[in-house]
Amino acid sequence: MPCHPSSPQRSTIPLVIAIDGPAASGKSTVGHELAKRLGFLFFDTGAMYRAVTLAALRRQIPIDDEQRVSQLAADLLIQVISSQGDTDRGYTVLVDNEDVTPHLRSVEVDAHVSIVSTYVGVRTALTEQQRRIASQGQGVMVGRDIGTIVYPEAPLKVYLDATAEERARRRYLEKIKRGQPADYESILQGVRQRDRIDSQRATAPLRIASDAVVIQTDDLSREEVVDAVMELVHQRLQI
Ligand code: C5P
Repeated sequence: MPCHPSSPQRSTIPLVIAIDGPAASGKSTVGHELAKRLGFLFFDTGAMYRAVTLAALRRQIPIDDEQRVSQLAADLLIQVISSQGDTDRGYTVLVDNEDVTPHLRSVEVDAHVSIVSTYVGVRTALTEQQRRIASQGQGVMVGRDIGTIVYPEAPLKVYLDATAEERARRRYLEKIKRGQPADYESILQGVRQRDRIDSQRATAPLRIASDAVVIQTDDLSREEVVDAVMELVHQRLQI
């Protein structure tokens, strides 16, 4: 699958900070802010799984048709491009040259992405691209399996956690802030279901890497989490 992420800083020695954790644990916001502070590339691997899911839904490929969805993942041209300025998450996702970023977090994609992510063919296609990207520069990479499967050699691995209730509460407030319809109970149900699928799947399940630092974020603000990770960066990476 051709994938053309933004150009990382190719002249530098690869240095990846891996941030994993369950749905809505704050990985993307924290990872984005951390990358900004460090001047690193931010790479949100969940966006790639979301892009494949969106494309399957749009093409009316049945989500339970593993073979067709996997073939789609192999064929799609997915580009993840760092965007400067005030985009929410600091990147734009192009699928076959169309900017699909605003559609990646729809209720429909949310509901199906975890199933798509269980498919070995999808994971193989995307993991290969993610590894290539990781080996190219200095980046903060966020996902479910970065520290365990995609880039186990990362010198700093962080696992962000929070209770399902707290994560649902954050997702709920995020939606309200954007003026989107939001129902706390159904968001909580969705979070729990994604947790279940992500941690029980056979390939690359959500796991805490043995050498990861776990940060329980329930009682921490986003800034406090970023500060805690920055502290680890200074201690462990001497930068
Ligand atoms: O992080 P985000 O919620 O955007 O990820 C969407 C979905 O993609 C997750 O629920 C998970 O099923 C899948 N995913 C994955 N491996 C990754 C990143 C995301 O399986 N490295």
